[in-house]
Amino acid sequence: MALIVHKYGGTSMGSTERITNVAKRVAKWVRAGHQLVVVPSAMSGETNRLLALAKELAPSHPTDSTQRELDALAATGEQASSALLAIALQAQGVQSVSYAGWQVPIKTNSAYTKARIESIDDVRIRADLNAGKVVVITGFQGVDAQGHITTLGRGGSDTSAVAVAAALKAHECLIYTDVDGVYTTDPRVVPQARRLSTVSFEEMLEMASLGSKVLQIRSVEFAGKYKVKLRVLSSFTPWDIDLATEAESGTLITFEEDEQMEQAVVSGIAFNRDEAKISVLGVPDKPGIAYQILGAVADANIEVDMIIQNTGKGGLTDFSFTVHRNDYARALELLKTKVLPDLGAKEVNGDDRICKVSIVGIGMRSHVGIASKMFRSLSEEGINIQMISTSEIKTSVVIDEKYMELAVRALHKVFGLDQTAA
Ligand code: ADP
Ligand code: ASP
Ligand code: MG
Repeated sequence: MALIVHKYGGTSMGSTERITNVAKRVAKWVRAGHQLVVVPSAMSGETNRLLALAKELAPSHPTDSTQRELDALAATGEQASSALLAIALQAQGVQSVSYAGWQVPIKTNSAYTKARIESIDDVRIRADLNAGKVVVITGFQGVDAQGHITTLGRGGSDTSAVAVAAALKAHECLIYTDVDGVYTTDPRVVPQARRLSTVSFEEMLEMASLGSKVLQIRSVEFAGKYKVKLRVLSSFTPWDIDLATEAESGTLITFEEDEQMEQAVVSGIAFNRDEAKISVLGVPDKPGIAYQILGAVADANIEVDMIIQNTGKGGLTDFSFTVHRNDYARALELLKTKVLPDLGAKEVNGDDRICKVSIVGIGMRSHVGIASKMFRSLSEEGINIQMISTSEIKTSVVIDEKYMELAVRALHKVFGLDQTAA
């Protein structure tokens, strides 16, 4: 008997029929003698629906008070799906109980819409498990020290599940989703993408942070910190497939260095359409410029990703950086109204139709010429590179958004990741 955490995403919970399927699958694990904690997402589309309602009422950038209400609102999606799953389990003859984040409690900081989990009380969960119940815990949400409901950022149910698994020292955390594992790139964009049977923790961390939405980055961070055994697998297999087969399916996130993603130099391609670029042109080239520009942006609580400063010419330089698209208008406004006049720069402009495409692989550490192979492949497709950033195991470029799919497909092929190349 083992204690296992299952997480089911929005599509897997998308209708009462699918919820019944989830309940039957969970019941199968219970009948095999396991203790189960299940963390569901809201039914697919529900979080978007709720947030769109709020936007109708308050279209401009949300104030702090509005952010609080956005979290109270969005958290109801998971509350509904959790209760529905507990009901479906009971209908299958499985004892179960559902808890919202504040009932566990899952304690977080107070950063509405992107709160971080600080602690999880396991007393209530363990008592229910010991009483033979399946415990259903809402994904995506928690409660801060003042008792306000918080949410963990989009895709946050993955993080809830891994954090619950860490708190309970569960044997394994299984992330059930609408694809059957982690692929070399998003299989919806590149049909030739290949499923990986294992992926190293470090590569998964890079892929998640560079835009592969299959796992929320914080869930991977948690798994790394607490050494949670983590597997991504399909919720769309028939619920009654053999349990041992199911338990070995999908993609296992491994912590062993030598179990590199299929031993390839480049193991995966990630992309992200959520960023926008801002350029400050004709800035006096003197000490303190980066601080003046980026300090003001950081003070406004806007995160910056890639940064480029050109070499100065005639005492002037250009400075570009990327921010999340949601922060684009605010960052642009801030620079135009506050920073530009103080800096004496010539112009601020921006582009929110960009995307970031990245190649990831542990093998890049020990191979040279990988980045140049990437640049050559993009140039052969006639794609202009606007920004570049590198780290030990990844190279990212910013390009025009309209070339995203072309770039991802070309790179997937050139690095030998296409199915046919295997
Ligand atoms: P869930 O609702 O189950 O959390 P998500 O939509 O958040 O599901 O994540 C699963 C989706 O992630 C897949 O449908 C797929 O389109 C996308 N995805 C992006 N990159 C990858 C990748 N490298 N491997 C697998 N899926 C990926
Ligand atoms: N329901 C939330 C979202 O849509 C959390 C999740 O699904 O993981 O972002
Ligand atoms: Mg998700």
